[in-house]
Amino acid sequence: MRPTRAIIHLDAITHNLAMIRQMAPNSQIMAVVKADAYSHGIVQVAEHLSQADCFAVACIEEAIQLREGGISQPIVLLEGYFEAEELALIDRYDLQTVIHSQYQIDWLLASKLSGSLTVWLKFDSQMNRLGFNPENFTAALKQLESSDQVSEIKLMTHFACADDIASYKTEQQNKQFVDLTADMTVEKTAANSAAILAWPETHYDWVRPGIMLYGCSPLLTRHGAQHQLKPAMTLESQVIAIKQVKKGETAGYGAHWVAAQDTRLAVVAIGYGDGYPRHAENGTPVWINGREVPLAGRVSMDMIAVDIGLDSQDEVGDRVVLWGEELPVEVVAQSANTIPYTLLCGVTSRVKLIWQ
Ligand code: PLP
Repeated sequence: MRPTRAIIHLDAITHNLAMIRQMAPNSQIMAVVKADAYSHGIVQVAEHLSQADCFAVACIEEAIQLREGGISQPIVLLEGYFEAEELALIDRYDLQTVIHSQYQIDWLLASKLSGSLTVWLKFDSQMNRLGFNPENFTAALKQLESSDQVSEIKLMTHFACADDIASYKTEQQNKQFVDLTADMTVEKTAANSAAILAWPETHYDWVRPGIMLYGCSPLLTRHGAQHQLKPAMTLESQVIAIKQVKKGETAGYGAHWVAAQDTRLAVVAIGYGDGYPRHAENGTPVWINGREVPLAGRVSMDMIAVDIGLDSQDEVGDRVVLWGEELPVEVVAQSANTIPYTLLCGVTSRVKLIWQ
């Protein structure tokens, strides 16, 4: 059996949820479990998050996975992605959906649902992605209010720069949302993880944490541990070979790494075929036997090499951690010039998930 696996620490996820409750005590929590719960296993995570008030997914397939996995809390289609004929599935599986465009309202008005649909009308406060602009938001709201298909309307917006505490953009977006919706006594949501941490005035009735649930900091240059979050995934593998190399020898594709002195390389069974980032640079830290050692050479599909030094005691079969409690995924993301989201979501299906 290939030793490459991701240990999912379910108790860390419960702990992170409790931390979010403390940070946003007056809000309900919509736990974002799209993309297979950022690769942590959508049903296993949702089953364990019995304290979450609601779940958010990207698409109907994910929502059905949750319902068929026995999840009974409300489920929201966060990106509002559905086809006209899928409205019947939304009804059958008792789902809620975001409404962001006029064509969706047209479909809804023309449909014959049971009449109990809850929708989240999305206001585009100039992220310029999904949602209605100030000019057409009120008209959209009126149409939904007049529909027999809709039983409840809630309001949402999404921030573009909440992870950057120096940016003025979140205050600007929030002001737009407040100006437009202040008189509306319906439930509202705006805050993703970054806004939960950095912009408490945006918590409203519901918060929508994703990355924080999995123990990562959403803020640039911070780590989850700095917010008392616990990493929920340990990505680990083993040493499968050890190589002696002489000063000046190269290693890996493109001969991208050159030995600065005589040393030993440990070859580890993980590569971009598992989701380890191909663009991780020489020197990216990897954890082995209680210390960090540098990545040596390009990441291959199935393996990497790390420089363990001439005098190390490491052996074939030793455990290696790519990220987890021993080595924050934020650090690896920075070395690979990316963000923790892409590393977590990029873990591929051949990596065995083990829930603990
Ligand atoms: N809300 C919306 C609309 C999203 O698209 C996402 C994630 O992409 C989230 C909330 C959760 O974001 P985060 O993982 O940064 O908390």
